[in-house]
Amino acid sequence: MKEMSDTVRIRPHLAAVPAYQQGNAPERVGFKLSSNENPFDPLPEVVQAVQGATDFNRYVPQNLVKLQQRIAERHGLEADQVHLGPGSVTILYQLIQTVAGEGDNYVFPWPSFEAYPALGLASGARGVQVPLNDDFANDLDALAEAIDERTRAVIVCSPNNPTGPVVAQSDFDAFMRRVPENVLVILDEAYAEFVTNPDAVHGTPGGNLVVLRTFSKAYGLAGLRVGYGIGDAELWQGVSRVAIPLSMSTPAEAAALATLDVEEQIFERITELNRRRDRLVAELRALGVRVPEAQGNFVWLPDAPDSLARAFAERGTLVRPFAGLGTRISVGEEESVDEVIEVVRGEMA
Ligand SMILES: *Cc1c(COP(=O)(O)O)cnc(C)c1O
Repeated sequence: MKEMSDTVRIRPHLAAVPAYQQGNAPERVGFKLSSNENPFDPLPEVVQAVQGATDFNRYVPQNLVKLQQRIAERHGLEADQVHLGPGSVTILYQLIQTVAGEGDNYVFPWPSFEAYPALGLASGARGVQVPLNDDFANDLDALAEAIDERTRAVIVCSPNNPTGPVVAQSDFDAFMRRVPENVLVILDEAYAEFVTNPDAVHGTPGGNLVVLRTFSKAYGLAGLRVGYGIGDAELWQGVSRVAIPLSMSTPAEAAALATLDVEEQIFERITELNRRRDRLVAELRALGVRVPEAQGNFVWLPDAPDSLARAFAERGTLVRPFAGLGTRISVGEEESVDEVIEVVRGEMA
């Protein structure tokens, strides 16, 4: 029997938040500088490990104990303080669903990671956006002030994607003293490995602080989906109730373990990417173009005209425009750095 409406109902509040947009693949072959990916091909040792992970007729064990222990060791933690997920974006969703439901809210900086506005949709929690400060960094005072009696979580992103600056350790410590102990603080450190500013925060998890890391950016495993959170073991027990079971994969675990075995080579690549980043920033600033502190593997051009992304697209290169806010450009191949400087000079200098 037909009901009044014969289409499936999509919960009305879902329309209020824009869908996550991925950087498109270029139509012509060029540089892909739109998703902060690692431009280096996977290391042979890692490829080999993935090719050897052929027992994928079996599920991965519920918690990947070996990888969990390896990560715990490098952070000086116990294994149960480490929570793995298929990308740290998944863990962001899990955390908000664990702590914030209907009638609650969570506070986050903006502009920041595009996934943040949608994190509360499934549970019904409302997202509260807090503008960045004049340096394009997270405004910790404003984030703390936005916390009210309905707030269950607050997100800090350092370095901030898409703008680049870090949060200072001393400012973060003062912020933690202001945040009520029953409000979860999520420190998103997706780009931590690229940070060279000695004053930058390095989160010490525990209590109401969790730190999120990923294998997607510096470690070059974006397409395999491995991220992790470090924090209180009891919190992770709660998180495991909302986590979708069996969502990690055999090749992803093998790749992550193999990557940790060849970390020296990863560090060399990070050093090279930072050299390219710093050259890019210096040359753009020499052209008179405003570039905030860049501590990730990307630069932010707050004054970029809308035509900039089109000028890149004409050459087959993809960058990421944020309508009315600016344009983010990832640090890619050495030759891509020269192309970025050339195109920006033509459009903005
Ligand atoms: C890329 C990114 C993530 C998500 O990475 P995963 O691939 O899901 O691990 C999380 N936070 C920020 C700020 C990012 O830029």
